[in-house]
Formats: sequence, structure tokens, C-alpha cells
Amino acid sequence: MTLTGKNYIAGQASAAGSQTFTGTNPATGEELPGHFHVASEAEVDRAARAAMEAFATYRNSSPDVRNRFLNAIADEIMALGDDLIDRCCAESGLPPGRITGERGRTVNQLRLFGEVAGEGSWVDARIDFPDPDRQPLPKPDVRSMLRPLGPVGVFGASNFPLAFSVAGGDTASALAAGCPVVAKGHPSHPGTCELIAVAINKAVASCGLPAGTFSLIQGNSNESGAWLVQHPAIKAIGFTGSHGGGTALQRIANERPQPIPVYAEMGSTNPVFILPGALEERGEEIAAGLTQSVTLGAGQFCTNPGLVFLAPTANPAAFTDRVAENFRDVEAAAMLNQSIQRAYEKGVSTLRANGAVTLLSEGKAADKGYAGTARAFVASAEHYLAGENFEEEVFGPSTVLVKGHSKDELVKSAARLHGHLTATLFATDADLGEYADLVAVLEEKVGRLIINAFPTGVEVGHAMVHGGPFPATTDSRMTSVGTRAIDRFARPVCYQNFPQNLLPPALQDSNPLSIHRMIDGVRQAP
Ligand code: NAP
Repeated sequence: MTLTGKNYIAGQASAAGSQTFTGTNPATGEELPGHFHVASEAEVDRAARAAMEAFATYRNSSPDVRNRFLNAIADEIMALGDDLIDRCCAESGLPPGRITGERGRTVNQLRLFGEVAGEGSWVDARIDFPDPDRQPLPKPDVRSMLRPLGPVGVFGASNFPLAFSVAGGDTASALAAGCPVVAKGHPSHPGTCELIAVAINKAVASCGLPAGTFSLIQGNSNESGAWLVQHPAIKAIGFTGSHGGGTALQRIANERPQPIPVYAEMGSTNPVFILPGALEERGEEIAAGLTQSVTLGAGQFCTNPGLVFLAPTANPAAFTDRVAENFRDVEAAAMLNQSIQRAYEKGVSTLRANGAVTLLSEGKAADKGYAGTARAFVASAEHYLAGENFEEEVFGPSTVLVKGHSKDELVKSAARLHGHLTATLFATDADLGEYADLVAVLEEKVGRLIINAFPTGVEVGHAMVHGGPFPATTDSRMTSVGTRAIDRFARPVCYQNFPQNLLPPALQDSNPLSIHRMIDGVRQAP
């Protein structure tokens, strides 16, 4: 498919702005074909208005229609075939195997949200029947359910050009909730964004939905994104990316005359605690797994384990020596773009300049494209507790091993952590008994606790939580992965003393949608 380089506003290709930008292959540094038009303010306005217009219809679409729509998007993405895989690999520097896997994850995620929307019970319908004879006052008929918030602005991340981008988890959950989407394309993979937008538009048309249900605006500066967040028609933002980007968008959203929620997932250092029994019994195996987890995909995962606390053990050097050896063998890998590579090198320089941190070992260097060299550092829990800062995310293939001298030091270190997406314990049964207080501390700090597995790899399902206290996200009550993500784009609405014909189907006595509901406080199957 030939790329037009245009924005897609309510199904129409549009190139009103005069500024353009190009994609770059990060593995070679070469410019890729296609000139992409930066959306003008008028185009952002058109997209947001069209989304608001579409909302009037789409918010009332049936569960079945939303299910068909999300599945149609998945089908259209698959129908893009190798055009999508080739362009996405070229723009991200990621290998075909990884991108093919990510496409599978993206379409499965769309189908899963289709299933949830189609089943319908996610709306959490509650009915409190009236009691006119109640004393001293009659009890009214009160019913409530979750209703869609309105048009959602979606900002994808560079590190998941499919699964966290134009048709990623934020878009899938917003559409499942009944919210039209205006996606801001990531400037690192504009061609991929366009291909996906065309696929979504085909699904909008084949399902007979209003054209404004989906729009794509492109841009490579903060301006177009800021216009989107400021637009009065936009009612919520889904964002995955940097701390700077997420907090900037939250600030803009809070300064609006009508502030809106910004659900930003901004990454994390994902502390890992290796407890004494596990360190003694499986140190070598854990060191190998850690090296793989830190350097996978050039370390460009928000679940990358960047901080590893080691429990006191008879021979701590056995573990650190093994990690050092493993890291030396790691080949440099292409990072997603030049600014991410520069940010990585800056983060590494900051660690090197910290007198409390020592470089343990480095992987191989490369002189082509925007490559990232793996690095392992070592420090002590004593310095961490004394206030040294090596907790900030260094986005790339690096980690800091922090040696603890006592259980107390480890528990206190956990208590000093700020919010993260995950915390991991490598432990034997005996360790878990002895360090139960560590688990209790970590529960307050993260969205996902893991035992004896690395945090990279986030299962998309009903129970997953990919969130956590600030600065990992802007709202620790929510998740951006898994079907609970739909809750971000809905709000409870209550209907008191409504006649049956004016109630949404989910709240009517006959339960026409056959969904699970709470009736007078009791959860009931259809
Ligand atoms: P990013 O720079 O935050 O960009 C994400 C999106 O937000 C882009 O579309 C960007 O477009 C827009 N944006 C960023 N700042 C903005 C602002 N102030 N106003 C308006 N729009 C803004 O994220 P990234 O490029 O994916 O990665 C950069 C860094 O983010 C990495 O070095 C890493 O630290 C972190 N990261 C975290 C995750 C995660 O999973 N949490 C994933 C990837 C990266 P424009 O540039 O056109 O404005």
C-alpha cells in the first residue's frame, strides 16, 4: 500500500498543513520514503468535532456492534499483511519476529475487548428496586451503570508501534467503552500509524459507524498533541511514553476550563529483590535470566528491571561476577530513535558520574544506526538509604545491582521506593516466610507483584494490572493493559424513578442484554 503522508480526519485524507516530516530507520540512520504532514490546528479541531458528533451515535451502539467493529479492525490489520510488518520493522529497527508477535498481541487485544464489549456485563449494572412502603420514607427506584465518557485522545509510545499505538490497548479499550478516538501518531513510526489508520477506517465503514468514530492526526512536535488535549470535545486522554510527556499533558488537561483525566503510563525501574535462598540455590540461572530481561529489545520496555536488590549472602561476588560476564557478551542493538538513544546515553552518564555507583560491565558497542550498549552497574543499599538517587528510569539495556547487608536494609530500601509498575521477588519458600514484611511494603509501591519470574512480558487478560502509583502512572487506580482498562473511559450514571422505556437496555427489568447485574445488592447471573 502506498503511503499518502496525510492525516485521516473522519475517514478523509487531509493535508492542510505545510510542515512535513519523515520516518527514519534507526538501525541504519537512513530516511524512509514518505513525507508526513503535521496536522494543523484546524485539522485537530475537525477531528475532535467529528468525534463529538460520532459520539451521539456510537455511545449507544449495541454490545454486538462494538464486538463486530473491534473484530473488523483486527481483521483489517491482518489484511495489511507484509506491508505493515515491513514498514513497522523499518521504522522501529525491531526484527520481523518481534513485530509479527506484536501484531498478534494487538489483534488479540482488539478481539478480547470486542468480547468484553459484546458480553456487556462490564457496565456494572446495579438495580435497587423501590419500596413505597418503607418507613419513615419510601425507597425510590435507583439504577446505575457505567456510560462512555466521550471522545478520547490517544498518544502511543515508540517502543510498541502496534500494541501501544494507534490501534493499541488505549484505542481498543476506549472503543469498547463506546468512546470515539482521535489518535496522535507517534513521530517515530508515522507510516505504521497511517497503515493502521486506514485499516480502522475500513472497519468504521464496513460496520456502518459514523466516520468521526476514528481519526488520526500526525505530528512531530508537541503542538498538535497539545491542541488535542486542549480541545473541549475531548473528554479523556490515554498516553504511554515518557515522564516528561505524560506530566506535560496532564498539566495541559488540568489547565482546561473543564479539566479531563489523563491516564498516562510513564514507565518505571521495576525493582527486583533476590532473596538469600534463591541467590544461593539459583544465582547462576537468575543472572542469566536477568541479563536477558534487561537487554531484550535493547531494554526498551517499561517493565525493564533497572534496579536489583541483592540480599546478604555468603558469596555476593558469585552473582555479580556472573552478571558481569553475561553483560560482556551482549551485542549492541538498535534503539527506537535517536532521541531515545541520546536519552539512554545521558542516563548512563548520570549513573557513571554518581560516586556511589560503579560500572560492573559493558556489552559490545556498534558504530551503525542508533545502537544501545548493555551496561550493568553495582551500588550498595547503604548508599541508596543515605539518599543516593539511582532509582530513575534509564530507558535502555542497563540495570543497577544494589547489594544489601541485612534484611533490615532491604525492607527499608523497599520502603524508600517511589511508585513503580512492578516489583519482583526471587525467593524460596523459606525466603518468602522470612521476608513477609517486604511483600507487605512492596504492595504499597506497585501495580503488579511477581514471584520467581521477570517483569518483562505483560500478559493481556482480565486480571492483569499494568499501572502503579506515581510516577509510574498518573492514576494508580487504573491499568492500561488488560480488560479493566475499559473502566478509564466510562463514568457511573444513575437513573432514579425512570420508566422502563427510557432506561438503557442494561438497566431494564427484563435484562434484554442477558448480562450479570447487581440486584438489591446481590450479584446475579442472567
Ligand atoms: P514520548 O516522547 O513521551 O512521546 C509519546 C507521545 O507523546 C508522542 O506522540 C509525542 O509526540 C507526544 N508528546 C510527548 N511530549 C509531549 C508534550 N509535552 N506535549 C504534547 N505531546 C507530547 O515517548 P516516547 O517517544 O515513546 O519515548 C521517549 C521516552 O519515554 C523514553 O526515553 C522512555 O524514557 C519513555 N518511554 C516509556 C514507555 C513506557 O512504557 N512508559 C514507553 C516508551 C518510552 P511529539 O513528540 O510529536 O510531541
